[in-house]
Amino acid sequence: MADLMPYTTIDDAATPVWERTGDDRDSDTQQVQGRLRDKLGRDITDLRVSVTDRCNFKCVYCRTGNEGAQYAELAIADYLRIVRRFVSLGVEKVRLTGGEPLLQSGLVEMVRELAKMRTAYLPDGTKVPDAAHGQPLDIALTTNGHLLEGLAKPLKEAGLSRITVSMDAVDAETFAKITRVPRSFNRVMAGIREAKAVGLGPVKVNCVLLRGFNDGQIEQFAEFSRREGVIVRFIEFMPLEEDRSWKPETVIRMDEIVDRLNAYRPLVELAPNCASETAKRFTFDDGLGEIGIIAPVSRPFCGACSRVRLTSDGKIRTCLFSQNDHDLYGEMLRGGTDEELDTYIRHVVMQKEARHHIGEPDFQKPSRNMVHIGG
Ligand code: SAM
Repeated sequence: MADLMPYTTIDDAATPVWERTGDDRDSDTQQVQGRLRDKLGRDITDLRVSVTDRCNFKCVYCRTGNEGAQYAELAIADYLRIVRRFVSLGVEKVRLTGGEPLLQSGLVEMVRELAKMRTAYLPDGTKVPDAAHGQPLDIALTTNGHLLEGLAKPLKEAGLSRITVSMDAVDAETFAKITRVPRSFNRVMAGIREAKAVGLGPVKVNCVLLRGFNDGQIEQFAEFSRREGVIVRFIEFMPLEEDRSWKPETVIRMDEIVDRLNAYRPLVELAPNCASETAKRFTFDDGLGEIGIIAPVSRPFCGACSRVRLTSDGKIRTCLFSQNDHDLYGEMLRGGTDEELDTYIRHVVMQKEARHHIGEPDFQKPSRNMVHIGG
């Protein structure tokens, strides 16, 4: 990543835009042109859009068991307008998430429109001379897979580039215990196989490991990757759950996962795909199977973070652990022009937090939980 400033440990949690003075605003909007970049020199190229905070699973580590939406959803046209603004400022990857994004009835239409957009900057950071020189966006989706069997083909045809399916167990019984939805495992498996069949492979399968719950499954997940031809990614559990049950002891850390996998079969490390790659990647000594480990707790990657998030109700979050939302949709409702929205986005991005503080004495839980932010 070009011009990345030295990693810093200062706590610079965002100040709400509406509390700012004119002078603050002036000093924070120094970056008035060029590709979207925060004050630490991190290029913002990755936008995660939550298209609903409804979910048809009630995973024990995520939800309390309550159902239904807590926050509003926007019209698809409004999500698209917002994405267009971000793309015009340099975003290249858009990940659709939720809640459960497959519950959003306008999703296929949204992907079709996203597939028509083109990147606005060249890899060297210069603006493309015209739309014909832009590249198609990288359009990804994170889903629990429950409705995927019927939607994989239309999504692929609409232009979806790739898919990640969350799956926290490879046996039906444990899976149903975690999701609290009976017979969910077979439906998700059918969804994964259909995604592969229609050309959405290599499918990534994300697993959050919790001590005493599904940590017995590490080796089975390795077998699963080798057998099904999917990329399995273990994610360290973060304090983002609704019922605030996170404890450091519950987290299965990267070192422990690596030791367990190495005992199963020797691991071979793979090179990262890009500078902002969140996962450390491995295969096994025979080259069969791929495992990624995403370790936000034991090995934070904030220094290379290229992401911002849009919540289902149109708020920008500059970090999963932000204490504030930035009401971009509010700016739209007030009649903001495209130029005004661009200025607002640049201003918000300049306030992106340096890092999260998981496990530190001053850690404050974020103002929203994972399911209401968009994972
Ligand atoms: N419903 C979709 C799904 O299941 O993939 C998208 C939303 S879900 C919130 C996105 C991802 O966040 C899932 O892989 C889920 O396991 C993960 N997740 C939820 N709570 C988490 C936590 N506290 N720590 C780490 N990952 C979490």
